[in-house]
Amino acid sequence: MNFIQTRGCDKNKPQSVTFSEAILSPIASFGGLYVPQKLPDLGEEFLNKHLNSSYKELASDMLSRFEIDIDKSVIDEALNLYDKFDDANNPVPVVKVKENLYVSELYHGPTRAFKDMALQPFGVVLSSIAQKKNENYLILAATSGDTGPAALETFKNRANVQVACLYPDGGTSDVQRLQMVTEDAKNLKVIGINGVFDDAQNALKRLLASDSFKAALKEKHVSLSAANSVNFGRIIFQIIYHIHSYLELVRQDAVAMGEKVYLNVPSGNFGNALGGYYAWKMGLPVEKIIISSNENNVLTKLIKTGKYDLRDSKVILTTSPAMDILKSSNVERILYDMFGDDRTRELMQDLENQNFYELTSDELAQLQNSFDADFCNGDEGKAYIKDYFTNFNYLMDPHTATCIKSFETCSNPEIKTIAYSTAEWTKFSPVIANALTGEVDAEDIIALESISKEANLEIPAMVKELFSKEIVQSTIIEKEDIEKEILKFL
Ligand SMILES: *Cc1c(COP(=O)(O)O)cnc(C)c1O
Repeated sequence: MNFIQTRGCDKNKPQSVTFSEAILSPIASFGGLYVPQKLPDLGEEFLNKHLNSSYKELASDMLSRFEIDIDKSVIDEALNLYDKFDDANNPVPVVKVKENLYVSELYHGPTRAFKDMALQPFGVVLSSIAQKKNENYLILAATSGDTGPAALETFKNRANVQVACLYPDGGTSDVQRLQMVTEDAKNLKVIGINGVFDDAQNALKRLLASDSFKAALKEKHVSLSAANSVNFGRIIFQIIYHIHSYLELVRQDAVAMGEKVYLNVPSGNFGNALGGYYAWKMGLPVEKIIISSNENNVLTKLIKTGKYDLRDSKVILTTSPAMDILKSSNVERILYDMFGDDRTRELMQDLENQNFYELTSDELAQLQNSFDADFCNGDEGKAYIKDYFTNFNYLMDPHTATCIKSFETCSNPEIKTIAYSTAEWTKFSPVIANALTGEVDAEDIIALESISKEANLEIPAMVKELFSKEIVQSTIIEKEDIEKEILKFL
């Protein structure tokens, strides 16, 4: 299968590209994105066939339906990385929390957040493409905390790939920072920046677009790529767990095969929700996808009013930082799917030029047929964490907690919900400790221990050992010096 472009073709780029090409250069004509020409139609037959399959068997068959230009042996090697999750037989447990509410836990991988679901296998796929082409790639990543550790973990010691990872010094949790600065593989460089996440992100965008930087890389025989969440190489692995979670509900006798469910997704860049939308289009029985947000509620406003409005918006720092995003990149793929390439180009140009676009009332109705949304603030989130721990003995992180408000305000109580949990309690422990015990401003290590005691949960070994590991990545620089630092590393 080939991939086409959300904003149409500018005649400089080919009309369509292979999966490998879409992965290596994810930006399409007019600054758009690549999307599959046609999604495979799986239907109920596929679901029935995989009722008793393992996660990997399901994944392997689903990926084969895309007919991508990656050898089966590479796909198998990529999927084997799910064996490193807590339970190799069930990398994504789905837990009943209360009547009609099931939580699909996407955080049982090596870095304890849902980014592992896609980045773990993606690392194998990208490295194999680079080896096959006999080229070396520099992967740039800018992180507010979860993408960085997951990208470093997947690319460490992989052939033909080097990673430079930028993070805002002081802007991540202790656990997130330690996950990065203790990585000692020779092909990884972690760079702290005196600044905020936006500074890191802007630096990355500048470098990706810089001809002089690319020329300097070329002298070193290195090409540039990015592992951000618009890369379809990540999206494709995010379709699988939606199908898996539904089959889990069937296996648990929670739904009959074919019965529709809500997918409730804590959203930032919309990769997770897009995976659910594609799964639905491929035949998963879904009633609606519910988009949960924090105080950065652009997506709630879009889905409620049809207006994407950034004119007076500034990113608000919240207790769920992985969702502190205003430009939610993967929404573009939904616009394309619903309204076509000409209209998508028009809307995205409005957003770039005026920081604003507005759907027509027909378009809004179509969007609302598929999506509903709500947001909650940090205090509401903490109250949900405490309430669900006290009353249902379920401990959730602040990102997952944003789903509870929309579960209450957007769902028909007759229909079951799969809510997605995107991080383990260990990654955002100070907020959770505050919610449970009232303690304020605890360091991660203190908060981890108090939650562990309060909830009678063990701190996983890979989190605990971070605090005694040697810090090997100690570069902290001004944002003006990033390019120089990366070239020095290469
Ligand atoms: C990345 C992330 C999200 C947002 O996911 P998107 O696919 O970008 O919408 C939510 N929660 C956590 C913990 C994350 O790391």
